[in-house]
Amino acid sequence: MIGPRARLILESTLAERVEFDVPLARHTSLRIGGPADAVITPRDRKDLSHALAICAQHDLPTRTLGAGFNVLVGEDGLPEVVLRLKRLRAIEYVAPDAISVETGASHATLTRYCVDQGLSGLEFGAGIPGTIGGWLAMNAGIGVREMKDVVRSIELMDRLGELSPPIARDDLDFRYRELAGLPEGSVLVGAQLQVEASERSKVQSEIDRLLAQRQATQPIDVPSCGSVFRNPPGDYAGRLIEAAGLKGAREGAAEISRVHANFIVNHGGASARDVRRLIDRARAAVAAETGIELETEVQLIGSFEGDSL
Ligand SMILES: Cc1cc2nc3c(=O)[nH]c(=O)nc-3n(C[C@H](O)[C@H](O)[C@H](O)COP(=O)(O)OP(=O)(O)OC[C@H]3O[C@@H](n4cnc5c(N)ncnc54)[C@H](O)[C@@H]3O)c2cc1C
Repeated sequence: MIGPRARLILESTLAERVEFDVPLARHTSLRIGGPADAVITPRDRKDLSHALAICAQHDLPTRTLGAGFNVLVGEDGLPEVVLRLKRLRAIEYVAPDAISVETGASHATLTRYCVDQGLSGLEFGAGIPGTIGGWLAMNAGIGVREMKDVVRSIELMDRLGELSPPIARDDLDFRYRELAGLPEGSVLVGAQLQVEASERSKVQSEIDRLLAQRQATQPIDVPSCGSVFRNPPGDYAGRLIEAAGLKGAREGAAEISRVHANFIVNHGGASARDVRRLIDRARAAVAAETGIELETEVQLIGSFEGDSL
């Protein structure tokens, strides 16, 4: 919990860049989540460094969120300082075969940039909503390609606000939907991604193909957090949940999607508790049918009705 004294310090040093008691339902794609004690939106890297240093100095726990497309925040909220990097969004072509991108840039901005510049290699990300920071932290991807295949290096700021020299991909521990081993409280600030020169029309048509495929197979018009569970080795979580008979199962306004059983959708007014109940039901049903213990891909953060995760 961020106490009154710490609030005063944040307010007096960060002015309009800090807000208090911010409902995270506003900042998550599921439209669910209690308030964060504070949300800081730094102007630039220097400002981010300053904010981290203040938080470290006063022992305030911090967490960086991207666009909230892969998180379920508890209804009791997040007793932490949330950092949002949406103003750190520079993108630059580093000829001949890389782009340098700040992690607050959105998937849509990056995709548009690649089309405009005729750069190929990142088309797979066109339908993966979020920020580049979220893509990196989650090693986001689709079957054939994920972030680890395109990252050359990353830039990391530690919890004290010190920026590291670029860290090469070979020194990073990318795993399935995870970039493991990041020091506690550190912030992904930038990355160099590999691209190759192509033609605008080719880049655009590959993006159109992937988006059409998604439109046909995923409930993209209803609030969700994407895949709720990781696929277990050799199988698909969605197939297992469907086979366990839970497609269309409901708790309140939350539903295991009828379009894709690894998605939970919010029909309006669902609570974190509704979603957790569906997660528990899907896990139990799949375990009972197959013995497989599904693990969540969505990040459960904050306090869920008394029990802190
Ligand atoms: C309709 C839909 C379809 C989706 N399809 C896919 C798909 O095909 N493949 C796929 O992989 N994912 C998919 N997702 C999930 C989601 O889009 C990705 O996980 C994406 O990378 C989340 O980015 P974000 O910025 O929203 O991250 P958030 O959800 O905000 O955060 C995710 C995690 O990253 C951490 N994080 C974010 N930014 C930083 C940073 N700068 N520094 C340190 N840590 C950070 C957060 O703390 C959190 O732990 C889908 C989601 C939806 C809603």
